[in-house]
Amino acid sequence: MTSRVIAIDGPAGSGKSTTASAVAALLGLPHVESGALYRALTLAALDAGTAFVGQRLVALAHSLPVRLDLTDAGFRPEVAGTDVSEPIRSERVTARVSELSAIAEVREWVNEELRAAVERHPRGAVLDGRDIGTVVFPDAALKIFLVARPEERARRRLLQDGREATPEAIEHEVAELERRDHLDSTRAVAPLTQAADAVPLDTSDLTFEDQVEAIVSRARKAFS
Ligand code: C5P
Repeated sequence: MTSRVIAIDGPAGSGKSTTASAVAALLGLPHVESGALYRALTLAALDAGTAFVGQRLVALAHSLPVRLDLTDAGFRPEVAGTDVSEPIRSERVTARVSELSAIAEVREWVNEELRAAVERHPRGAVLDGRDIGTVVFPDAALKIFLVARPEERARRRLLQDGREATPEAIEHEVAELERRDHLDSTRAVAPLTQAADAVPLDTSDLTFEDQVEAIVSRARKAFS
């Protein structure tokens, strides 16, 4: 059976999360950001001084626990019951998250959490990440692969973080995004790649409203 999942994948800074959040709100479905789980576990491991070794990381995730709390207003990443929405976006987490997400045991743990979250929401859910349409939900009702020019992705990420998009800042951000893209696309397990049946959507020259609407109209058809 086709699962009632809308999978939005794409590289860092392609606007997946903000887009998925708006799509979910318009469809009245929960939004699940898979990157937040990778980030929350990275934060927990850095704070606990846990080595980036699969079994140790998964044990840490279970014991604290590291989890996503899904509410009508969105998802809340938690470590030991504390909301970590802000610290998971810090530079020190961003710098290490691709290293942690290349570990097979970590990916299995995240995928189990994601599938359990969707099971609790039989009406469906909007998930964003790198491998939602290829690995986690290969039978998703709709798969979107978001892309955008590197400079545009960098500019959006800076604005989203409340930083100024100066030429120097954009150059630095492009290098950081390309470093993560390279790590995410070349890893052995579940690399970032477009599913054969995904709809590619280049958002470089689309307004935010237009890109959300493009997905919502396809989703309504897929769910009808
Ligand atoms: O989406 P975001 O940039 O916050 O994700 C942070 C990191 O988590 C990515 O660079 C990638 O290494 C990892 N990730 C992943 N698979 C996903 C979601 C995120 O490997 N489905």
